[in-house]
Amino acid sequence: MTYVISYLLSKLVRNQVKHFYGLGNLLSEIQIQELNSFFEPSLLSKVRLIYLEDVIPSRIHVRFYLLCYQMMFRLQKLAGLTLGPCIFLSQKTEDVDFKEVLFHELIHVVQYEELSYLNFFKAYIGGWVKNSFSYFKIPLEVQAYYWTKCCWTEKQIRDDLTGTLKMELRAYK
Ligand SMILES: [Zn+2]
Repeated sequence: MTYVISYLLSKLVRNQVKHFYGLGNLLSEIQIQELNSFFEPSLLSKVRLIYLEDVIPSRIHVRFYLLCYQMMFRLQKLAGLTLGPCIFLSQKTEDVDFKEVLFHELIHVVQYEELSYLNFFKAYIGGWVKNSFSYFKIPLEVQAYYWTKCCWTEKQIRDDLTGTLKMELRAYK
């Protein structure tokens, strides 16, 4: 069951990434400077930030997805959501708290890259089911929260964050 849902989700997300990637913003020079001791340059240049308030949907399917996101952000009180290289943010990232959100979402980008869409969703949904549907116990979220706290919030510099993340993700391949 988890496999079927993960498979369908990975197909859906791949399509959405196709629609939204071109609408996204590159990370700013300042953001790249702040983040390049933690994440690989190729990853930082691939990421696109999509501020929901900025997207002017010209196509009907984009309009539909956007509506879904706006509802989801409002209902779940989400600040950020990552689909592959696309990071959706509910507001602009100059805000200090939002830099933390961005850091957290970038860890999800590493997870997608390392695992592929299918394995990401298998690990995410499987972890959610296994942990009594608790969002904060999903191992991929635990990893993102833990390393954001260490590296960003508490400024404990980690030499090779990406390498560490990749090592931890081996269990889900
Ligand atoms: Zn997360």
